[in-house]
Amino acid sequence: MNELLRQLPPIHEIQKAERFISLKEQFNLSAEQLTGLAQEIVENIRTKMINGSIDDNITSGKHIEEMIYSELEIKAKKATVHTLQRVINGTGTILHTNLGRAKLSEQAVKQVVLTAKNYSNLEYNVEKGSRGSRHDIIEDVIKQVTGAEAAMVVNNNAAAVYFILKALAKEKEVVVSRGELVEIGGSFRVSAIMEESGAILKEVGTTNKTHTYDYEDAITEQAAMIMKVHTSNFKTIGFTASVSLKQLISIKKNHPQVILYEDLGSGALLDFRDYGIGEEPTVKEALKNGADIVSFSGDKLLGGPQSGIIAGKKDIIQQLKKHQLARVLRVDKMTLAALEATLKAYTHSEEKITDIPTVKAILEPTKSIQKRAMDFLEQGRGLPFHLKVEHGTSQIGGGTMPTVELNTYLVSITRKGWSAQQLFNDLRGSEPPIVTRIIDDKVHIDLRTITEEEIGLIISQLHQLD
Ligand SMILES: *Cc1c(COP(=O)(O)O)cnc(C)c1O
Repeated sequence: MNELLRQLPPIHEIQKAERFISLKEQFNLSAEQLTGLAQEIVENIRTKMINGSIDDNITSGKHIEEMIYSELEIKAKKATVHTLQRVINGTGTILHTNLGRAKLSEQAVKQVVLTAKNYSNLEYNVEKGSRGSRHDIIEDVIKQVTGAEAAMVVNNNAAAVYFILKALAKEKEVVVSRGELVEIGGSFRVSAIMEESGAILKEVGTTNKTHTYDYEDAITEQAAMIMKVHTSNFKTIGFTASVSLKQLISIKKNHPQVILYEDLGSGALLDFRDYGIGEEPTVKEALKNGADIVSFSGDKLLGGPQSGIIAGKKDIIQQLKKHQLARVLRVDKMTLAALEATLKAYTHSEEKITDIPTVKAILEPTKSIQKRAMDFLEQGRGLPFHLKVEHGTSQIGGGTMPTVELNTYLVSITRKGWSAQQLFNDLRGSEPPIVTRIIDDKVHIDLRTITEEEIGLIISQLHQLD
């Protein structure tokens, strides 16, 4: 072992080696970065030598060098590709939380690039030539599409919930129905956020039933807020009862200090019920039904960038804007650029609204999905795989409309002697990675979340999997 250890080249020698220098040039890396990678490799080999886990074929200095440089080449190559990368979503889940939720519209992307590459009027009032507020960039358009008196934006909806509780109900009671104390995506629990904010949770009712009198009994002088949480990712069915916003308004009449807040979660601006999809109330509706303020995500049904939108009564929004946390949770110019462009689409015709990829994907008629499935088959002719168009369903995802199943067309991909798992892994390992679904022991690609351009990419990947 000691003999082998002595064969490990010192770093200063590696740095002078021709192969080191050529890798440095090939991948355009700094000497420092490449040295760091070489050090990691040498250390790793040293550890293996000491604990005896080194490959038996490594017996000489020449072998060791070969091993170092081939690993260095792999690491150097890796260092030049981006860690955050494009993925092809063949799952059919439109707002896939693991795959970045909403895709931005062309217009939103254009505005992001323009704003990112140049100076902007982020906090400058061009008309007056004086300091402006970044809230002004987005407030009018939110008011327009939600009917709210006032509005503001923070980092995400979880931040909005925290902010609202902290700023408006710290050390005071917040009345919530037990049936609405939800957990979203494993990392967001209404009760935990409440505790973090310093607000005192006052639970009312039971998991399946909450009545008007439960609220009436619970609201005292100590109450600052009634919070309603839109239970977006699950549904209680059967013997249930809940209290509507409208009913809460009348309860609130005797308690003028109480703010009625609804966390809407996904925040539909378009009424998907008009298209026979789901039962999601719109933001406009929640405000019209009497919520003092609402909050919702920018990157769920709305189809914009990650953000949390707070809309409602002017005096409350004013209070929030002045709070220290508004600065802590503020969004950057790229988010504002994307959000403004996305929201603007909602002020136009339906045709414009379907420029938003999320909305388009939800509303896309099965006929046009079928057409892409047929295109896939057509382009895949000559592949050593068996392709077949099949019926199936896609999900909206992102914890929204959990019971909705949209009819779709999928292409199943099989090959004699290949397991579904092997093909699934190979596709995931391709560049860009292709994420698929295994149904009935076959790999399936749902064309609802695949663009025309991506069909070509998938086919060329399949050609390479031989
Ligand atoms: C998704 C969701 C949140 C969290 O929103 P993010 O934008 O993901 O932070 C909060 N409340 C409800 C009801 C939700 O559905």
